[in-house]
Amino acid sequence: MDGRKEDAKNLTRRELLAGGLRWLAAGALVAAGATMTGKNLLRRGDRQAETCINEFICRDCSAVSGCRLPQAMSYRQNTRGAERD
Ligand code: SF4
Repeated sequence: MDGRKEDAKNLTRRELLAGGLRWLAAGALVAAGATMTGKNLLRRGDRQAETCINEFICRDCSAVSGCRLPQAMSYRQNTRGAERD
């Protein structure tokens, strides 16, 4: 009879542990998702904060070396080989 009570207690502990682990895993997933979303929002905010100062004529722009706009990145990529020649 005491053995049954002990089994019931152990089962309850196991269930409690399993439930705790499930909640821990769920919390970890939520935290990871929130972190990734936060990073994406920050990145998007950076991109939106940067505006072109030279009508997207990167060739004549003084900011081309540090500009993070896609046009500048494309310009740098396309002229990388030409600068060495
Ligand atoms: S380097 Fe950047 S700021 Fe300058 S023209 Fe190109 S996109 Fe605009």
